[in-house]
Amino acid sequence: MGILEVESLNKSYDFSKGYLFKKKRKVIVDNFSMNINEGECVGLIGNSGSGKSTIARCLVNIEKADSGSIKIDGESIFEKKDNMKEINHFKKLETKKKIQIILQDSFASLNPKKKVGRMITEALLIHEKNIDRKEADERVKEYFELCGLRKEYFDRYPHELSGGQRQRVCIVRALVLKPKIIICDEITSALDVSVQAKILNLMLDLKEKFNLTYIFISHDRDVVECFCDRVIYLEKSNKIV
Ligand code: ADP
Ligand code: MG
Repeated sequence: MGILEVESLNKSYDFSKGYLFKKKRKVIVDNFSMNINEGECVGLIGNSGSGKSTIARCLVNIEKADSGSIKIDGESIFEKKDNMKEINHFKKLETKKKIQIILQDSFASLNPKKKVGRMITEALLIHEKNIDRKEADERVKEYFELCGLRKEYFDRYPHELSGGQRQRVCIVRALVLKPKIIICDEITSALDVSVQAKILNLMLDLKEKFNLTYIFISHDRDVVECFCDRVIYLEKSNKIV
């Protein structure tokens, strides 16, 4: 049994308005399946527009797949098939804790009006009912250090940090919930090469320390092939339905 089992995932988007003609949809994710074992680091490679981010968004419920099934840790999280009652357990807090995503644009991912530490503490308190704010602050500060951020950054605003530091903050935010799976969607693509290497090394250290499973998305073949245990190549679908 894999930690993440995805079967026959489909997602398409409207592309004609359908006033005169029948509405048409462009298939972006076409019957996508994958099975990932605990502790694996699996790369997803494909040209721009091949649906990598769409798959990622469906896996964390930012978007809903049209059909298919997603199992995490043996539990059916999402299942939608013809003539079948839909299963959707994404809203459960336990599910959110199991799978987290880190995105390319760290600036857009963070609330510009909040100090980064406070923002993460607040998110943590929603998920962890048994700790108070002081304990949450302490835990977040520990994770800051683990991710190579000095504690004083806790009280900074996103714009007061560099791109690499902001991405580390996003890593803390994902990690502090103790997820099993982290999806990294082009997490180093906006960073300078020297910073990229540091972030990748950090991700490798964290994977060892917490026995994490990664889905590592990038358009950069070299990075993926060197970073991942196994790679899935995506082809752009040209199907219209
Ligand atoms: P990738 O991450 O591999 O570059 P994406 O998953 O972001 O690809 O996008 C795949 C395709 O889906 C793109 O051609 C994009 O234009 C289209 N697409 C993505 N999101 C939407 C949306 N919300 N509405 C319509 N088309 C979309
Ligand atoms: Mg993308």
